[in-house]
Formats: sequence, C-alpha cells, structure tokens
Amino acid sequence: MAERILIVEDEINIATPVKTYLEKAGFDVDHALTGADALRLMEATPPNLIVLDLNLPDIDGLEVCRRIRASSQVPIIMVTARDDDIDKIVGLEVGADDYLTKPFNVRELVARVKAILRRAPTTAQPIGGVLTHGGVSIDRGRHEVMLNGAVVQLAPKEFDLLWTLLEERGNVLTRDQLLERVWGYTFAGDTRTVDVHVRQLRRKLGDDCPVVTVWGVGYKVGDDAAPA
Ligand code: CA
Repeated sequence: MAERILIVEDEINIATPVKTYLEKAGFDVDHALTGADALRLMEATPPNLIVLDLNLPDIDGLEVCRRIRASSQVPIIMVTARDDDIDKIVGLEVGADDYLTKPFNVRELVARVKAILRRAPTTAQPIGGVLTHGGVSIDRGRHEVMLNGAVVQLAPKEFDLLWTLLEERGNVLTRDQLLERVWGYTFAGDTRTVDVHVRQLRRKLGDDCPVVTVWGVGYKVGDDAAPA
C-alpha cells in the first residue's frame, strides 16, 4: 500500500505541483486548504507524513502542528514564506521534523519526504555510547545530554547533529555532509537548516558548546578540550 502524504496549503499554485510530484513518486496524496481541513483529514485518512504551510487562512500552521503533536508523532515538514520564520519555529520546538522556505524546489521536497520516511521506522537507536567534550556529555543509549551535570533538553535533530560532530571530533564537516548524515538527504539542498540547528545548540549549551564554525567550510568540534 502506498504511503499517504497530507499537504496543508491554501495556495493552489503551490499545492498542485507538489501533489503532482509526490503522486509521480508513488505516494497517495491528500490536500487540505485550511488548518481545520487538515485536522479533519488527519482523523479520516491518517497520513504517513504531513507537509504543513505556516501561513493558513484559519488556524495558524504552528497551532495545527501543536494540535497534531498532541496525539500523533507523524513526521511534519513545515513550509514558510520567510527565512527568519525557520529560526522562530525551531526555537518554539513545536515538533516539526524539517523546514523548507518558499520558493522551494519541488524535487527537493520530494527528496526530503523520502528521506524522512526512510528513517521513520527505525526509531529505536540500538547503538549506545557516551561522548564528552569539556562540560558537555552526550549519551546515545539514554538519548541524554548533560551540561556540567545537568540535563539539557535537545530536539532530536540537535542531538544527532551534536553526536555526529563529536564523533568526528577534529574533522571539519561541510553543511552538505551534515545534511546527509543527520537529515539523510542526498539532494544538495537548503543548508540553512544546519546553521539554524547549530544556533540552537549554542543557545542551549552556551559557552560550553563545542561546535566551532570553520568559515567558508562548515563546522567541527575541536579535539583539544580535556574531559571535565
Ligand atoms: Ca499559505
């Protein structure tokens, strides 16, 4: 049975090509024009993934996302018309799995949908291990990050990003490499997602955040900090 995608978008000229491409990629696609429609369709024909526009005529996309999250862990890709919205949404932690800024390449959206759905069934992370750097310690088995002995709440992608950079300690990873390793994209796409998540890590870990910007290249964790 084909996986079902729900597009929530009031602009027909955006929704139509998205629907067409997703159908060509083998998905069953539902389209809701409003937030209320989306919540109704969620119940009637539960989707495997939702592409959710932030700016809807009735209920705000963020509110729709919150209401869906109250009862479901279905993957959600949020779409916004403005770049700085992404910072805001990530900061609010409403529980979206990914973000795209309009105008976006429809093939990129399809690539992201596929990447997320490939990952979705493997929610259990069997690989354990603990990595530390200065006052930061990240425990993969317990999915827990400690900052100077206190637990810090990280979003799943922030966690994976920090783990990946610590695992590759001393090596620079480009934004494209990080997108591929953490988000699972093979499509060279919107690398801003990486920057937004690094900003969140710095906000949450403060001066202890081990992630260093390597200008013009990407990010790394230095290999010079002694464990606390
Ligand atoms: Ca809209």
